[in-house]
Amino acid sequence: MISLTNNKDLKPEDFPSDIKGLRMTKQRREVLAVILRDRDHPTANDVFLRAQDRMPTISLATVYNCLEALVNHTIVRQVNLDRESSRYCPNLNDHCHFQDEASGKIHDVVFKETNQK
Ligand SMILES: [Zn+2]
Repeated sequence: MISLTNNKDLKPEDFPSDIKGLRMTKQRREVLAVILRDRDHPTANDVFLRAQDRMPTISLATVYNCLEALVNHTIVRQVNLDRESSRYCPNLNDHCHFQDEASGKIHDVVFKETNQK
């Protein structure tokens, strides 16, 4: 199994044909690659704009479908913050999100103790 969490240079074509039972179509690879590349918790619209660099024909609806599939297969995590569009995070380890109000950037916050709910 390749590491999806610690491999910034991973290219869409390097992904296995199947991740956690999800068939990795070209579009899903592209969407996943975008989320893994910058790790800045992009919104679906951000993912769409970035995916267009390499795949100009991809549509926003396709991006949404890809994101939904990736979330359903716990390949990426959907992050919902108050009054904002959902964002997408490739960090599947236990963590919280902290939003810097000045920059609007979202950071991962990892706690030492594990707190099972
Ligand atoms: Zn995160």
